[in-house]
Amino acid sequence: MSTAGLNPHSRIVSGMRPTGHLHLGHWEGVLKNWIELQKHHECYFFVADWHALTTHYQDSRGLEANTFDLVMEWLAVGVDPDRATLFVQSWVPEHAELHLLLSMLTPLGWLERVPTYKEQQQELKDRELDTYGFLGYPVLMSADVLLYRAGGVPVGQDQVAHLEVAREIARRFNFLYGRGEAFDALLRSAHEHMGSKQSHRLIGWAKQYRESGASELLNRIAHTLAEDSRLDPEERAALFAEARGSGREILPEPEALLTRASRLPGTDGRKMSKSYDNAIALRDDRDVVTRKIRTMATDPARVRRSDPGEPDRCPVWKYHEAFSTEETRQWVETGCRTAGIGCLDCKNRLLEGMLHELEPVWGRLHRLQADPDAVREVLASGSERARIKARETLGEVRNALGLARPT
Ligand code: SF4
Repeated sequence: MSTAGLNPHSRIVSGMRPTGHLHLGHWEGVLKNWIELQKHHECYFFVADWHALTTHYQDSRGLEANTFDLVMEWLAVGVDPDRATLFVQSWVPEHAELHLLLSMLTPLGWLERVPTYKEQQQELKDRELDTYGFLGYPVLMSADVLLYRAGGVPVGQDQVAHLEVAREIARRFNFLYGRGEAFDALLRSAHEHMGSKQSHRLIGWAKQYRESGASELLNRIAHTLAEDSRLDPEERAALFAEARGSGREILPEPEALLTRASRLPGTDGRKMSKSYDNAIALRDDRDVVTRKIRTMATDPARVRRSDPGEPDRCPVWKYHEAFSTEETRQWVETGCRTAGIGCLDCKNRLLEGMLHELEPVWGRLHRLQADPDAVREVLASGSERARIKARETLGEVRNALGLARPT
């Protein structure tokens, strides 16, 4: 995942649906990123239980148990409640209010054109997804991240379009409600301070940018404003917002932190998925993991022990990349390509590295299973902390909309 360019003070928000036990692909592809992010950023990680309802509303029975199981697994792999705020989406009802308010200004076309909307309806044909909630999922996701004024949101390639909706919604909100009298007065004084020549030039570039969306124009505007010593920082920010067709930044636009898909394939070489029955669950015990690795598919061209193999064609190699030392990986590359090692030798060596990483995770899982109140406590206090931040943003949003409440 690239965090280059992300302000070190940026807040990170990320969620997971509680739809069953995690597998090693989740650990490797998502949770290891979270563990890195929590070291350097203020992080909010949440169980997206309302999101689960957008596709699983017909059977919600396992939702509560899955929520606790999921958080147990987060804690077991090292997500740290002293560094990150861990909470449950439905325990912070401010998500629902912001979702409602944002839905008022979100054009239907933005939601209908999200590529996954039609794709998932096709994929999940056994479920009736012709629902308001399913179409509005990107608005709920927008509320989730905008509520905490997230600077960065880790997303897979398939979620980039959802985050783009969140950015568009924030921009539209700021344009509609961030342009009060004070903002307009600030703009007037900024244009005066720049002088008419520079002001006209800027207005022209901004118009072209809004028509074409060309990012080089926006860069040119940002550079010009930064160089203009006649402006103060507030005036620069207001002019930049105006150029982008926005207003005062009530809801900042979050950046996408693109994460690569997990390297780990399923035991049959296809994408790891519970529905293919090829996953290695985080909770699988030593014997099950050993059996699954030992029976795992290998390079299909390596039929006999004496045939040389090619690690790049072999699913087992992907696991070595994730769990083995450099020394072991070199041993595999040489031994496989020269037929100097057999696949069982290779898998046994992989198991050494995997079990070394998994044993402490299982130990923590067992301790948490014996003390479910500890998980409940983490979520209760995390949700309370999240609510404080959420109420702040929602207060500003209500004020901007003219919905301020008496205190
Ligand atoms: S030796 Fe290892 S990397 Fe090579 S084909 Fe066998 S299992 Fe795969």
